[in-house]
Amino acid sequence: MKNARQISVIIFALLVLLQSLIAPILLTSDASAREPIPQADIESEAPSYPIAEASFVAELPQTEEPPAKEPPRPQEPPPREEPPIAEEPPAQYIDLEYAYTLFDDIGGVQNGTVGPEEVRLLYQIDDWVHIDTAYGPGWLYMPPPPPPRVALTFDDGPSTHTRRLLTALASRRVTATFFVVGWRVTENPEIAARIVEDGHEIASHTYYHPLLTRISANHFRGELTRTHNAILAATGAEPAPIFRPPYGIHNRMARNVAAEFGLPLILWSVDTRDWETRTVEGIMSHIVDGDGNLRIRDGDIILMHDVFGTTVDGALRLIDLLLEEGFVFVHVSELLESQYGTLQPGAVYGRR
Ligand SMILES: [Zn+2]
Repeated sequence: MKNARQISVIIFALLVLLQSLIAPILLTSDASAREPIPQADIESEAPSYPIAEASFVAELPQTEEPPAKEPPRPQEPPPREEPPIAEEPPAQYIDLEYAYTLFDDIGGVQNGTVGPEEVRLLYQIDDWVHIDTAYGPGWLYMPPPPPPRVALTFDDGPSTHTRRLLTALASRRVTATFFVVGWRVTENPEIAARIVEDGHEIASHTYYHPLLTRISANHFRGELTRTHNAILAATGAEPAPIFRPPYGIHNRMARNVAAEFGLPLILWSVDTRDWETRTVEGIMSHIVDGDGNLRIRDGDIILMHDVFGTTVDGALRLIDLLLEEGFVFVHVSELLESQYGTLQPGAVYGRR
């Protein structure tokens, strides 16, 4: 009886000893992989007997309660290094310029890594993105990039095709610039008036469309004056203070006379050659290349002529494509002023 009791005490002691060796290993390996365990959790998970005193249990009378001792704690993980505090800019606000150093692509919400610092985008509210960086969390002002802008310009009208074009532009809420020739304005005053009523920009393209290098300064002055008066008479409004030379051709005389009239010379950057091909496909070939890539860039000025039915069809095709691509349509003067500031009379903008 006494032997059996002794054996059972020894077995119990061995079990306790074994437990005391294994338990800390389990706990510490656990702790290194996880967040530090709150003290309350350790208490509940710890064995109810005193592991540290296990080797003495065998000598204690079994009736006595084991002394209440603190169970061994898993080793505390080493204290984390404090993340460096950003001095400039302040921790809670990171400006757009700083953002460029953090993000490869400022336009998109995506994870970006620059150097050793990982930037995590947590969530976005409107133009603000909550981020987590090596410098700590913060709010990043990240407005969407402005939409690309393009100016449609229609020369040589107004013609009977212009009505259909105006209706289609209105239904798409697209605005354009019309460089009109004076004699057509005199012939179609109601169409010229509708151009202005619909909110488009109207400007001079001379009266009879002469090649400016073949005429005298006085002849050119007469062309400008007559066209100005024709537009004013038809529309009741002053034409926009810009001028497009016929064929995009000008010389020093033309620039000087244009300067006298306060007119900058406006050319283009994309020629659809609509007058040449007279097909929608021909026009679109100047808008989209053979691989299907858009040839139009932010800030482009597109040249067309609203004296052909095919131009209207082609214009609508390209407008719908550009709308799909997120382009915004603006008057050519607005587009150029945003690029160059106040336009200088006699100066040439765009190319041909
Ligand atoms: Zn022309």
